[in-house]
Amino acid sequence: MKKAEDYRKDLKIFNSLTGQKEPFTPLVPGHVGMYVCGPTVYSHVHLGNVRTFVSFDVIYRYLKHLGFKVRYVRNITDAGHLEDDSDEDKISKKARLEKIEPMEIVQKYTVDFHRILDKINNLPPSIEPTATGHIIEQIEATKEILTKGLAYEVNGSVYFDVIKYNKEVDRYGKLSGRKIEELIANTRDLEGQDEKRNPQDFALWKKAKPKHIMRWPSPWGEGFPGWHLECTVMSTKYLGEQFDIHGGGMDLKFPHHECEIAQGKALSGKDPVRYWMHANMLTMNGKKMSKSTGNTILPEEIFSGNNDKLKKPYSPAVVRFFFLMAQYRNVLDLSEEALESAEKGLRRLWEAYDKIKDIPETESEGFDVQKWRDGLYEAMNDDFNTPVTVARLFEGAKAINKMSAGEGGLAPESKQLLKQTFEDFMFEILGLPENRDECAGNRNLDHVLKILIDLRNRARQQKNWELADKIRDELAAIGIQLKDGKDGTTYEIV
Ligand code: AMP
Ligand code: ZN
Repeated sequence: MKKAEDYRKDLKIFNSLTGQKEPFTPLVPGHVGMYVCGPTVYSHVHLGNVRTFVSFDVIYRYLKHLGFKVRYVRNITDAGHLEDDSDEDKISKKARLEKIEPMEIVQKYTVDFHRILDKINNLPPSIEPTATGHIIEQIEATKEILTKGLAYEVNGSVYFDVIKYNKEVDRYGKLSGRKIEELIANTRDLEGQDEKRNPQDFALWKKAKPKHIMRWPSPWGEGFPGWHLECTVMSTKYLGEQFDIHGGGMDLKFPHHECEIAQGKALSGKDPVRYWMHANMLTMNGKKMSKSTGNTILPEEIFSGNNDKLKKPYSPAVVRFFFLMAQYRNVLDLSEEALESAEKGLRRLWEAYDKIKDIPETESEGFDVQKWRDGLYEAMNDDFNTPVTVARLFEGAKAINKMSAGEGGLAPESKQLLKQTFEDFMFEILGLPENRDECAGNRNLDHVLKILIDLRNRARQQKNWELADKIRDELAAIGIQLKDGKDGTTYEIV
């Protein structure tokens, strides 16, 4: 029988740098270094952020399942990320407005971030470094880029010289497919840019204005590091000057990742990343979920049902399953229908898993387990194609339902392989929880409400209006509204 390791030679990854699916060969055989840009911890993560972290969690889980020793580094941005159109750090600004320490903001939202990812069953990364924990490394990197002549200092700030890099080292814009001429033409003049030689130059180090709370001493005076530099410094510190995979949301391709390539190459002469991976966006009503436009929903609002966008709550397991129904490179739109279908689908898989034990042990086989298992690996090896993986799990579920109902059976080894494969893909790789308490809670509530609706209908048939109204009113008092329609009565949790 093929072991998980035997499948890894067929793994293909879509590399955003080349725009192609490429066979995956790590730098050091058997080992994978992976870096993913983490959150900027100045507010709650929204569901879009969570989608990206789940996408990379499944990638991490699958690489581990294939037997790779993976070092997964995901940072916490707790300094350096500037507000759009200003030169104030997002965390520093929030701390100033709320009149609390920046590190209180950082602590609050880091704890929140971990709690949400834990609920959605993400594995913690191997290392989770912070920008503020690597100020010295960022100052050293800035000095080195200055020494190489690819940066310049103005008024206590240090900027990366994009034009010079583009001329002397490598093409700037190769990841996002932008041309330097277009960049020059399209860059607006923002505050502080007048001191740059060219508008597309970016800060390695920024001088702190008097109101700026987060500041560190440096050879150029008190200031703080630029956002792009922290990822260069932390990824290469823990994974080497060149490493296998760098991930993040699509919206980070430019300028963040473009700048990371330029900084990395300026420092070591090498392209820092071999496979760039970009996860696509979660949308709501067709628009990107984004803090800046307010088009967001928080994970907790979905889990509790406390929101005005959806009719009922959905458990973390259902939300995770909903994410997996799209491939990570495709846009996914949040809707009640999609969540409902995820809820039904997940229930079907769990129920099928429970029925494996009821499959009769026979000599002739009613289902080709080996072929089915190969198909699951094939789907994941095809650039982590989770929707196809899920579709194949459903095929397995259908076969289990048939066999457990007496239509055919399996040899004992095949039955064992079917169970193992179901567990590997459903629980270990896709990270769906084995424990379905929360969903069971929802399901039980659903059953209880159907019983109450039935009792109310009977009361009405018997013209017992008092009892019928009591059931309706008491449910309404706890936020459950019964709705009488032409197809019967439904409920809504308001
Ligand atoms: P931020 O905290 O804004 O740096 O974002 C953290 C991660 O979430 C980054 O990888 C972003 O690309 C990603 N992200 C932001 N908005 C969305 C969205 N609507 N859908 C998916 N990922 C997103
Ligand atoms: Zn980053």
